[in-house]
Amino acid sequence: MIGTITDKRINMDLDKVREIDSDVAYYIDEELERQQNTIELIASENFTSPAVMQACGSVLTNKYAEGKPHKRYYNGCEVIDKIEELAQKRACELFRMDHANVQPHSGAQANMAVFFALLKHGDSVLSMDLSNGGHLSHGSPVNFSGMYFNVTQYGVDENGCIDYDNVREMALQCKPKLIICGASNYSKIIDFKRFREIADEVGAILMADIAHIAGLIAGGVHPSPAGYAQIVTTTTHKTLRGPRGGIIMCDEEYAAAIDKAVFPGIQGGPLEHIIAGKAVALKEALQPSFKEYAAQIVKNAKAMAQGLLDNGLDIVGGMTENHLMTLDLRKTGKTGKDMANVLERVGITANKNTVPNDPQSPFVTSGIRLGAAAMTTRGFKEDDMREVARIIAEAIKNSDDEQILDELRQDSLKLCKKYPLY
Ligand SMILES: *Cc1c(COP(=O)(O)O)cnc(C)c1O
Repeated sequence: MIGTITDKRINMDLDKVREIDSDVAYYIDEELERQQNTIELIASENFTSPAVMQACGSVLTNKYAEGKPHKRYYNGCEVIDKIEELAQKRACELFRMDHANVQPHSGAQANMAVFFALLKHGDSVLSMDLSNGGHLSHGSPVNFSGMYFNVTQYGVDENGCIDYDNVREMALQCKPKLIICGASNYSKIIDFKRFREIADEVGAILMADIAHIAGLIAGGVHPSPAGYAQIVTTTTHKTLRGPRGGIIMCDEEYAAAIDKAVFPGIQGGPLEHIIAGKAVALKEALQPSFKEYAAQIVKNAKAMAQGLLDNGLDIVGGMTENHLMTLDLRKTGKTGKDMANVLERVGITANKNTVPNDPQSPFVTSGIRLGAAAMTTRGFKEDDMREVARIIAEAIKNSDDEQILDELRQDSLKLCKKYPLY
């Protein structure tokens, strides 16, 4: 054993791990304790349910099931088929799309499969720039998508908003075969209808990557891309609150190409235990209570944003319209890198992020991205989020005062204890 864990209150049954490998069991306990005792504001994270975790930890991990339901390359898939079909059916119902492929191992894999299905080497793509809130897998120069395709990228204006007229201009110029909307750090509502109009005007296919906002769309608090985007990709582990993974949904006419691109195009055997976890999470997201959850995420994000503004801090684009926001630290003279570490010091986990026209490098940055989805899962309400905002503001203001930081660490711990995790 490496040490002693003070809070071993776990719901997951680790008996067998403990028997075989006390090191890994200890680290899982340790990670649980970290999750229990810190305020999680990383906008892409969430706490999935014990039901989802049990499905993911099941015997389904033993099965090879290359291919699709009823068209497998292995025998013995009759049970697996039922599970995968359930996940597909629920994804289609939840997001009102014709077809779902639930096999992508992650969001990046889902996007890679779409590129592989629809584009040829060198084809033209229009997407959002990473430093403006886009995702690596949308054509960043360091990703395969940026290396093998001819990518043009749009950004946001100084108010943190997409300038749709500018996107249209760029589309007319670069004549893309694929337009991608959807982001990793964008706090405003995305106008899918407008994107489709632009795509139609230039003869492009529209892909909406809803990785971040899938739970908000499922809960009806963000407009849906259904009816506008021919292709919709998502992760399952962000606001959707499922296991780590990806899903691709599309209009019927693209179904065969998408399925072929996932397998045999870029993946081998699907992770059927994770697909079972996706099915469980999708069932949870179809319940009326998920609508309440999604609505509370947005209320909580707004309460946190208002609290930060009231404490004299700036937010890119002002008030958020979804689950996340970027704190703009430029006028404080402090950096995202340093302040993210200060927040960690007081028990708040968040990530540094660039702001539009950031004077600092992407490694240092002038911003911090903050999200409300994970703490909403724990039960935080508006008052709690205002208290979180106060702790953040005090920590940034007093970032050199160890005694104040100690006190703030106790304040954040008190909030965590109020809403136990698992
Ligand atoms: C998180 C994210 C992804 C990638 O998801 P991974 O599961 O980490 O590969 C893709 N697109 C967007 C917009 C994201 O936010």
